[in-house]
Amino acid sequence: MSALLTLTPEGLYCPAGDFHIDPMRPVPRALITHGHSDHARAGHGAVLATGETLAIMAIRCGENFSRAQQAAGLSEKIGMGETTVSFHPAGHVLGSAQIAIEGRHEGRLTRIVVSGDYKRQHDPTCLPFEPVRCDIFITEATFGLPVFRHPEARHEIDRLLASCKLFPERTHLAGAYSLGKAQRVAAVLREVGYDRPIYLHGAMEKLMAFYASRGVNLGETRKISAADRSELVGEIVICPPSAINDAWAGKFPDAVAAFASGWMRIRARARQQGVELPLVVSDHADWDDLTATVLETGCSEVWVTHGEADALVHWAQTRQLRAQPLHMLGYGKEEDPVAAEGGTT
Ligand SMILES: [Zn+2]
Ligand SMILES: [Zn+2]
Repeated sequence: MSALLTLTPEGLYCPAGDFHIDPMRPVPRALITHGHSDHARAGHGAVLATGETLAIMAIRCGENFSRAQQAAGLSEKIGMGETTVSFHPAGHVLGSAQIAIEGRHEGRLTRIVVSGDYKRQHDPTCLPFEPVRCDIFITEATFGLPVFRHPEARHEIDRLLASCKLFPERTHLAGAYSLGKAQRVAAVLREVGYDRPIYLHGAMEKLMAFYASRGVNLGETRKISAADRSELVGEIVICPPSAINDAWAGKFPDAVAAFASGWMRIRARARQQGVELPLVVSDHADWDDLTATVLETGCSEVWVTHGEADALVHWAQTRQLRAQPLHMLGYGKEEDPVAAEGGTT
């Protein structure tokens, strides 16, 4: 482990700058990569994150989610103790950022990039990932097996629209994680020319409104009410993943249950969860993008925080890179409908 960054029970910690990144427990100073609940928790002393991430945390956790808050501009160099940190787009969700840390390590100026969650695919809802040259690259590996190759999101949204054509008398319930995926599904529907109103489960409303306020084109969205349901024949409703199997979904007669997630690549999983129309739309890098990204950073060392770490570590070693798994628990539940948050947020 580098003295610039170590692993503590709270998560990744930089002793030279005295801060944690995406800590799992309350700490005095936290740098946050993005607003997903496994990374952005309430209760820290001071939080440094992009303006969008701070706004998302306020929406999800309340305005007083930490004692002090500071917004980091993209690429802005910010001094933290004996280090300098900067935030760079991660292409994961609105406001998501990789965090670069620069400081002296064994007498040498060293740059470590903590990527948080990221993807390389096109996404009209956030800035694209920017590769940052570094010595040590810290990556997740949620989909870090060669079997995971995500198709373009447009291709999957075309499949959703084909199903709407095929079953014009059925409502399509599209399960999507409420931060990022839901807005991406809506925005890609608009990109391919879908111009009907998109209906929203109540849990989707606040973050959808926030994305729209930041200039993301979601078109006309409507919150559904109990009275609407019989009129939603042939329409698309975006809802939290957990809602597609609960009593809420039961109130739509003969609905098509769709679910947008990288996990939908695994057919058995879709079947098990009662998903009739699996849509392979992921906000995480697939195998090809993980490996290409590691090479693009020019790093000599890779640390894998969570997910399918062994395969990626082994791959890196075959490329003569130093690599180690961190086995961090508590991350990576966000595309998983079993573990993901339910309809309450
Ligand atoms: Zn995430
Ligand atoms: Zn995550």
